[in-house]
Order: sequence, then C-alpha cells, then structure tokens
Amino acid sequence: MALISLRNIKKHYGGENGTPKVDVLQGINLDINTGEFVALVGSSGSGKSTLMHLLGCLDQPSSGEYYFNHRNVATLDLDQLAALRREAFGFVFQAYHLIPTESAIENVEIPAIYAGIPEAQRQAKARQLLQRLGLADRLHNRPAQLSGGQQQRVSIARALINGGSVILADEPTGALDSRSGSKVMELLRELADQGHTVILITHDYSVASQARRVIEVRDGKIVGDSGDLHTASTTSSDNTATNDEPSSTRTQQQSAHLADEIRDACRAAWRVMWLNRFRTGLTLLGIIIGVASVIIMLAVGEGAKREVLQQLNAMGPNMMYVGPAVPDSGGPRGVISEADIDAISQMPEVLRIMPILRDPALLRYGGVSRNYEVLATNESLPQINRWPVAQGRFYTDEDNRTIAPVVVLGHRVYTRLFPNGADPLGKQILLNESLYEVIGVMAEKGAESGYNNHDERVYIPRKTGMVRLFPKLRDESYINLEIRHSGLMDQAEQKLEALLLDRHGRDDFWLTNSASRLEAEMATSNSMTIMLGMIAAISLLVGGIGVMNVMLMTVRERTREIGIRVATGARQRDILRQFITESAMVSLLGGLIGAGLSGLIIIILHWVDVAVAPSITALLGAVSCALITGLIFGFMPARQAARLNPVIALAGE
Ligand code: ADP
Ligand code: MG
Repeated sequence: MALISLRNIKKHYGGENGTPKVDVLQGINLDINTGEFVALVGSSGSGKSTLMHLLGCLDQPSSGEYYFNHRNVATLDLDQLAALRREAFGFVFQAYHLIPTESAIENVEIPAIYAGIPEAQRQAKARQLLQRLGLADRLHNRPAQLSGGQQQRVSIARALINGGSVILADEPTGALDSRSGSKVMELLRELADQGHTVILITHDYSVASQARRVIEVRDGKIVGDSGDLHTASTTSSDNTATNDEPSSTRTQQQSAHLADEIRDACRAAWRVMWLNRFRTGLTLLGIIIGVASVIIMLAVGEGAKREVLQQLNAMGPNMMYVGPAVPDSGGPRGVISEADIDAISQMPEVLRIMPILRDPALLRYGGVSRNYEVLATNESLPQINRWPVAQGRFYTDEDNRTIAPVVVLGHRVYTRLFPNGADPLGKQILLNESLYEVIGVMAEKGAESGYNNHDERVYIPRKTGMVRLFPKLRDESYINLEIRHSGLMDQAEQKLEALLLDRHGRDDFWLTNSASRLEAEMATSNSMTIMLGMIAAISLLVGGIGVMNVMLMTVRERTREIGIRVATGARQRDILRQFITESAMVSLLGGLIGAGLSGLIIIILHWVDVAVAPSITALLGAVSCALITGLIFGFMPARQAARLNPVIALAGE
C-alpha cells in the first residue's frame, strides 16, 4: 500500500440549516508513494486546497477513506492527528503563514516546541535549517522584516524541523516573483531528491510541470495523472526524514517538555502583552485597583481593630462609663450629683471611681497662646488609665481638697511649651488668666495607644476645676468606673442602672462599658471592612471581565496564528495553555503591581497617622485572587481559541 491512499474521498460544504450544499470534492482516488514529487494542478476553485487540508489532517472528509502509512486517519483521535501534523507533515502556504510576533528562528522552532524537543537542540536545528536555506543572517528578523521569498524559505524550514517526511505546499510560489519562485521550486526538488514526499499544489501548469508527477484536478475530480515518472526507489523510505527521533525522545523528556512549553508560553505571552502594552495597561488597571483595594482595605480594617483593642487595653479592661443624658421620654438633661457619686462609690463592685469635668481653656506660656482641653479629675487617673507620669508627680487627694492651682501636662502640650526639653516643673502657666504651677508631665500615650488626643490635654485636680477654672460647669461630663474584675461587669451594670433610676426617678443618664464600646467600634470597623471588601470584589470582577474581553479580542485577532499553530502540530491543550498563560500573566502582573501600589499607599497612610496593619497573608491572598480571576476569566476565551477549526482559522485574519 502507498504512503498516502485516498479512497473515494468526498467533501461538501453546507447542506445543513438551509445553506446551499457545495460539493467540493467528488470522489477522489489517489495513491502517493514515499519520496514522490507530485503536483496537484487545477484552476482556482477546483478543490485543491480542500484536498490539501484533508491530506494534512487539518480537516475531515464528508465520506471516503484516507489511509496514511496504512492507518485509517478517521480512527485517530485529536491528539494523534496533532502528532501526525507535527511529526509527519510540513505545511508551506501561499501566504507563508508565519507568526508575525516571532522571529524567523522562533517561527521555525514552533513545531519542535510542540514535539517536545529541548530548547538547545531545536535552536541548533532551526539555525542549521535556516543556514541551509540561505537565511543565516536573518535569524532574528520578524516576518515583516523579510522579503516574500525569504518568508517562504522560513516556512519551508519550519516544515522541515520535525523531519517533514511529507511536505504539503499550497501555491508556494503564488505570491513570489519568478526568481524567488524558481528558488523555492528548486528547494522542493532537492527535498524530494533527499527522500521527502513533496505534494505541491498550483494552478500554474508551468510550475506543475517541474514536478515528477502531475495530477490534474477539475471540479473536485481527478481528470489526469501523469503517473510517477521517476518512482523513488523503495529504499528511499528509509532515508526519508522520518519521525522516529521525536517519538523516541519524547517519553524521557516529558517533564522537561512541559516546563519548556510553559516557559515558551510565558515568553510568547509576555511578547504579546508588550506589543499591546497600552491595551494591556488598561486591562491591568482593573486588576491593579482590585488587588490594591483588597490589601489596603484589610490593612486599614485590621489597623482599626488593633487600635480599638489597644485603646481598650490602655484604658483598662474592666471599665464602665456613666454620664448625664436627655431622657428618651423628654424633659431636661439629667445631673449626676455629688451624692450620686458617693452612692456609686459605695458599690462593692467598684474598685475606683473617677468623675471627670471637661472643658477647653486658653493656655498661655511664653510665646504660646492656645486652647487646650482641660480635664479635671481625681488622683486615680494614672491607675485607671494605666498611664504613668513621666516627670514630676500627679496631683494627690490633698491637692484636690486644698483646691491647689496645679497642673499636669500631656506630652504634646509639654513639647509645645518646652520645645527644647527644658525642665517644666515649678513653672507657672496661665489657664484662662489664672496661674497654675506645673507639677508633672504625663508619659506619651499616643505612641502606645493611638490616643493622641490624650497627649493634647492638661489635667488639674477636680475641685480646682469646679471652683477655680470652671465655676459655671455644674456637673460631670462623665464618670469612669473601674470594676473589680470582669466577672462582675454585668452585675455592676445592672446595679448601677437600678441605683441611678431609683435616685433620679427617670432614665436621664447613659451607661456603657468598655466591652460594649469595643463591640460598637468593632461593628463600625467591620461594616466598613465589608463595604470596602465589596468594592474590592467588584473591582476584581470588573478587572476579570476586562481580562476576558481583551482575551476574546486577542483570540479573534490571532485566529490565523492559532490556525498556524494547529497546522504545525499544536494540540488543543497547547492552545488552551497558551491563552490561559496569557490571561494568567496579565492578571498576575496586575496583582503584583497592585500589591506594590498598596504598599505605597499603606506607607503614606501610616505616615499621615492612619492605623494600618498590613499583612503578608492579605497580600498573597489578593495576588492569588488576581491570578485565579485571570485563570477563570481567561478560560472561556482560551477554550474558544483551542476549539477553532484550523482550516477556518488559517483562512481568517
Ligand atoms: P482551490 O484551492 O482549488 O482554489 P478550494 O479548495 O479553496 O479551491 O475551494 C474549492 C471550492 O470550495 C470553492 O468553490 C470554494 O468556494 C469552496 N469552499 C472552500 N471552503 C469552503 C467553505 N468553508 N465553505 C463553503 N465553501 C467552501
Ligand atoms: Mg487554494
């Protein structure tokens, strides 16, 4: 049996859903032996290209049988067909069909990549082939930088890289001037002499006559066959460039093959991204914003949470707060009287009590004249707030009883009044026109708790406040209570509420504790986190849709490239992998840029005193989210690419 054997092959297009049926091939019987140099000649539209696509396993006949090397091609699955294209056939097209983004040598290497030939080996082979075809000095030129004849020689080199035992050339000289054309014909003749089976398709009888056997096709039928004028010797099948080499090396190099292919896909993807960098940039934007907002949102949310916890820690954990309020039922604002305070302090659950009067006052010292908030408290403040004095001392109960005009400065007030670190103790400052002696400076609180405003205050004894500084301020701003231990909190709260209700006869006070305060703050920060999270998710989604959009566009723009890749032996999964790699790379790049951007923004936020707690987990999570988005949204376009019909793809633009 011959190498190629066609039995009553028919091919029609259309015929379904009302489209007119076109019979293109109408019963072709043909045998071609190894080493023959055959020309299929016929006028345009006679069905030659259709026949070539069938011979090259790019298309299936409507009926009839095709035996290649004694195997019925109809029994082969898609991967086996791809292997056949890769290892047995070499296509040469009228339009050359080189991939425009790849250099000459890279174009030649493509079939070898799909065959799993290691990089060094396939580069050497490609270089050697191009040298043999007179293109030694054009290895790194893009197709656009080559003349038509040169491009056609590149495509011949590509057809030969995996052996190319059968060369299928469809009008290879059709687009060339006569000199380049005859050079290509000479090459094909040489290849036939070396044992390759060459099938040349042409509409030009003078070109066809250069082959050793001329078969004439008209209206999808063979109408003339000169017979094999120079039957190649049977031994020539042995020195034909067969496909043994790739097949035998393939199994050992399976893993190297995969890594090689992925690297190659990444390189190709990077090149495409770079060539379309404006478009890529726009696509990236969605992903960048999504990833950056996820990371920032988590950092800010976590930062806020930590700040609340820190504040709670700084205030002491078992705190309750009571203050006057306007009752829900209406009426005047309540008053928490001295007697109330006495009664509360009698409660066994209460460890310490600190009523607070709070109002701003004008502070003057040296050149400074500025309003500061003044807190008038009892001596318990350092214990209740877990807050030591840095210099001097805090006021005592004695100072309180004697209404001493003394003041303790917050840290920032101190640094403002005494910028050179001068000794403040014993100095007199003015508060609303009266003199007060500085007896101490509090430690810096802001650095530890995020409560900067504590450092922006000054502190005086409670009675001093009531009598001297705020004689018109009748009642407490609020009262801090420290409960003995956390187990007593609920009980203390209920008792306190009952006590005040009993004494006032109405609900004219507010009451809260550190735990519920924390809860409230957490709830706000949580709802903010959720909102920001939704924004982040939406922008990732939008980014993903952007990636999908661009990938669909890419697939459409590159249908021809896909056709070329399939014709040179790519399997469906190779195409799938290539396009998924591209979208994954776009989104990974977007993710990384987004991560970098978020880092920058977090630094700026930290710099302007927003509490941020960046985490590596959030960063990795966001970047992987981007990658996964790319994989998910890239899958559909990639599958669409992989499923393209190669014949249609090759014809496409
Ligand atoms: P040739 O290569 O000899 O010029 P082709 O094989 O390209 O001829 O085409 C043969 C005939 O088949 C033409 O009449 C063409 O219009 C028709 N044909 C080719 N491809 C298709 C297709 N996909 N759908 C419908 N008709 C087609
Ligand atoms: Mg044609």
